[in-house]
Amino acid sequence: MTSLTQQQVDQYLSLIPSAKRDEPIAPKTYLKIGGPARLFVVANSSDELLAAVKVAKEVGIPFYVFGGGANILVSDDGFEGVLIQAATRAFKIDGEKVVADAGVFTGLLARETVKAGLEGFEWGIGVPGTVGGATYGNAGCFGGEMKDVVTNVRAYDVANDREMNYSNAECGFAYRESRFKHEPHVILEATLTLKKGDPVLAQQKLEEIMGKRKETQPQGAFTAGCLFKNFEYQDESALDIAKRDVEIPPEMIAVKRIPAGWLIDKLGLKGKTIGKAQVSPVHGNFLVNLGGATANDVLQLSSYVKMKVRDELGLLLEDEVQYVGF
Ligand SMILES: Cc1cc2nc3c(=O)[nH]c(=O)nc-3n(C[C@H](O)[C@H](O)[C@H](O)COP(=O)(O)OP(=O)(O)OC[C@H]3O[C@@H](n4cnc5c(N)ncnc54)[C@H](O)[C@@H]3O)c2cc1C
Repeated sequence: MTSLTQQQVDQYLSLIPSAKRDEPIAPKTYLKIGGPARLFVVANSSDELLAAVKVAKEVGIPFYVFGGGANILVSDDGFEGVLIQAATRAFKIDGEKVVADAGVFTGLLARETVKAGLEGFEWGIGVPGTVGGATYGNAGCFGGEMKDVVTNVRAYDVANDREMNYSNAECGFAYRESRFKHEPHVILEATLTLKKGDPVLAQQKLEEIMGKRKETQPQGAFTAGCLFKNFEYQDESALDIAKRDVEIPPEMIAVKRIPAGWLIDKLGLKGKTIGKAQVSPVHGNFLVNLGGATANDVLQLSSYVKMKVRDELGLLLEDEVQYVGF
């Protein structure tokens, strides 16, 4: 990555004085991995977020916006540009409409919607990070996804320098996919439309989800959640090689989706360790930092797992985690 010039750094700092230099980023991510950002900004309002991005564009500095850091792996060399954290925490619940800044924590919003007597977003309690990150990756769990609840996204279209409102259909949501993964945007705000529900039942659902998380996922570990997307296919012939070695349960074939964690488990890779990075012994698609892992350890382990799944089962796994500074 090309180094920033001193002039660029000084110019950025003169226009965004709250920016910090050479800020360690690892502590701000769930994996606790990665080098420093040459410049770092915490944006507390959408205006600050936009200013941080627009100034970076003006000064010709690469920028990267993130939220909670729950789904990113930062390079050991850090990020030679300005890393901008969307810490915009305002939200409003008005009847069945919930308007949340990108930086609102998804879990907190799930709790607040339940408190307000709404149903449909209880699953959000299980997704670490922010509404911006969840919208970007169409996050979901336990049968819910952002695409089921988002009715509008306000975002800054970076290439065309304009603020846009996108309807649900215009967001291009699909499994862990959205238009925002393909066209650079800064997500500023999302509107969720939920339903009036029974607060007692909604609270029960919230607690059930938290309980299931504890049973199936490593607790207290440094991880970015699922490393790979589950394997989806159109034509069952994609499974020809895999079927020689493993018996694929009919319920997976019915939905044409094989959980990556299940594949990894079938290959006996749970617990596989490279350096200080390990495939969680609890959940095959969770990669954990045992303490002191480098981004390089994670890359090597992730490549190893992909190679095994490709060579032994003939299936190509795609990354769910987003890479920063590589
Ligand atoms: C223990 C654990 C369990 C998890 N379980 C699940 C699960 O069940 N389901 C699931 O879907 N995910 C899960 N994840 C992954 C993670 O929680 C989600 O991907 C989450 O939505 C990430 O949000 P974030 O704010 O932390 O995003 P970040 O990690 O900060 O960023 C992720 C991506 O979103 C982009 N982004 C973030 N904010 C913005 C913005 N304002 N504008 C533009 N782009 C933005 C970033 O550029 C980056 O590419 C889990 C993670 C952990 C650690």
